[in-house]
Amino acid sequence: MEDRKNVVLYTVIWLLGAVILLFFLFQNAGDSRIINYTGIVRGATQKLVKNEISGDPNDPLINRLDGILYDLQTGKGDYQLNECWDSDYQNKLLEIQEVWKDIKLEIEAVRNGADEASLYLLSEQHFKLSDQAVSLAEQYSDKKLYQTFMILVVYILASSTWVIFRERKRYKDFKQVYYHDALTGIPNYLAFIQGTETILNHRDRFDYLIINMDIDDFKYINDLYGYQMGDSILKIIGVGLSVMFAGDELCARVSANNFMILARKRENIDEEVRDYLNRLIYEKMKFLEKLSYSFGIYKVEEGEGSVEAMIDKATFAHKTAKNGKSATTVWYDITLLEQLTRETKLTKAMDKALEMEEFKVYLQPKVDISSGSVIGAEALVRWISKEQGFLPPDAFISLFESNGFITKLDFYMLEKVCILLRQTLDDPEKIALPISVNFSRVTVRQMDFVRQFQRIVESYNIPPCYIEAEVTESAFGTNSERVVKTMETLQKNGYLIVMDDFGAGYSSLNLLMSLPIDVLKLDKEFLLEGTSVKRAQIIIKNIVEMAGLLGIQVVCEGVETEEHLQFLKKIGCEIGQGYYFSRPLPVSVFWDKYHVF
Ligand code: C2E
Ligand code: CA
Ligand code: CA
Repeated sequence: MEDRKNVVLYTVIWLLGAVILLFFLFQNAGDSRIINYTGIVRGATQKLVKNEISGDPNDPLINRLDGILYDLQTGKGDYQLNECWDSDYQNKLLEIQEVWKDIKLEIEAVRNGADEASLYLLSEQHFKLSDQAVSLAEQYSDKKLYQTFMILVVYILASSTWVIFRERKRYKDFKQVYYHDALTGIPNYLAFIQGTETILNHRDRFDYLIINMDIDDFKYINDLYGYQMGDSILKIIGVGLSVMFAGDELCARVSANNFMILARKRENIDEEVRDYLNRLIYEKMKFLEKLSYSFGIYKVEEGEGSVEAMIDKATFAHKTAKNGKSATTVWYDITLLEQLTRETKLTKAMDKALEMEEFKVYLQPKVDISSGSVIGAEALVRWISKEQGFLPPDAFISLFESNGFITKLDFYMLEKVCILLRQTLDDPEKIALPISVNFSRVTVRQMDFVRQFQRIVESYNIPPCYIEAEVTESAFGTNSERVVKTMETLQKNGYLIVMDDFGAGYSSLNLLMSLPIDVLKLDKEFLLEGTSVKRAQIIIKNIVEMAGLLGIQVVCEGVETEEHLQFLKKIGCEIGQGYYFSRPLPVSVFWDKYHVF
């Protein structure tokens, strides 16, 4: 639409120029005719006088000359001459007219026998005057030609200047739209690529980092506070980043809550950005919730090709950082690529593996510390792959969390545990004990988690007291209303809820009071060497006491040594799990060892 308008506008401008040019050319042709006809007046009068003197009268010529003179003076007549507006020329014509009148009278007189001398003189006078008239007409024509030329030059200059200014403004507007993000006003992806290229071509490129960052769980901010609030936060972040990364640094918003940064190399850039943005958001909006951000960082290397390739690497690192986690920073390096290759292999194989039952349930006992007897077990998955051999969960769980496959796997494990419990319950020689099954936070966030969970357990007719759902502490962190509701429902239906890895994250003890938790599993880090033993012991002691008051059972993971055991005994922690008692075992080995299941 805009383009068509411009085409029409510019056509009109150039057409107008052409019309002006044509008009003046036409005028100029008219002026040439004035010169010619003035010349005719000069020559033809001489010829007439000569003829009259030699006794050859020519009345038609007299009439023609009358007509021409009249036409030259008025611009109206048979010869269709233009009127010449030059006053000197017109005055000259008046003088010629006067002499012409006299010439005509004298011709009459000569025809009637008078002397020719007077006619001769008059003709000389006429020649002089008409000669002057010719040069006046020429001057007039030249002057007009010059004016025409000047007017055209001015027109062309003025219209071209106007067009140039207009186009420049259009280009500026276009650049604003084409190279800027509409919401935040900062550069977009395209501008980032070009800007990065320019900066890296002019500076020492190995001084730079390319960063892909985003706000974790931004959808939650939008859902909870509304899109307007979400947009305001994005604007503050966009503008904030553009202030932080200006000059020979650069930033851009590349999609919803995803930003790219070109920054000078520095160690803790991720922490700098996190602190700066959260401070800014608080200052501008008094927004109390602390947002978390994930970073993928690529250090520009020697021999690096296109900017796009560098961005891809930062983006790849960012994807790795997001892998089911939040608030993470990943620096790109070549091992990431190897990881990608490995992950691609696993992703390709996973569906078939589930079908072929390559995922196996291993059991690790939970032990009553005072009596030493097994009171239950935790089901832990192992992938015994035809192609890749034995794979521990660390090799694939976070991949499955990021590609969503974990949900299938978790329910598969639940089903296998139910089958095992059914067999045990049906066998009078065996003893059945509760088994806890791990559920990823990805799984427990599924809308129909409770329905699927119950469908499986009920289809094997397993009493709920035999199934414990283990969910990591991080799933109960921020943005976890749905998880809490889900767990409440399960708890109401008689299942036990275990909070796994307690202490690894940020949960406070206060949080425990409001959550539907039956069992607390202390993270194995607490007992690990290296951490301040004294401090860890004080914390565990307090947690055990506090949980006791709340009626929550405590299981301590990672019991590896006799000292661990004695310590737990001393502080009154009743249940332990760890290599000290047993590593996770295949079901048949577990039976051989404990005569359970
Ligand atoms: P987790 O749920 O915290 O499981 C406990 C992990 O600690 C297990 O590792 C277990 O083998 C290990 N462990 C047990 N005792 C000791 C000890 O004394 N010292 C040390 N250092 N480690 C001990 P595993 O089996 O490799 O599992 C790792 C993680 O994988 C699990 O951590 C859990 O988060 C995840 N996982 C395992 N199976 C499943 C599953 O079926 N579904 C889901 N969603 N996650 C699973
Ligand atoms: Ca667990
Ligand atoms: Ca754990």
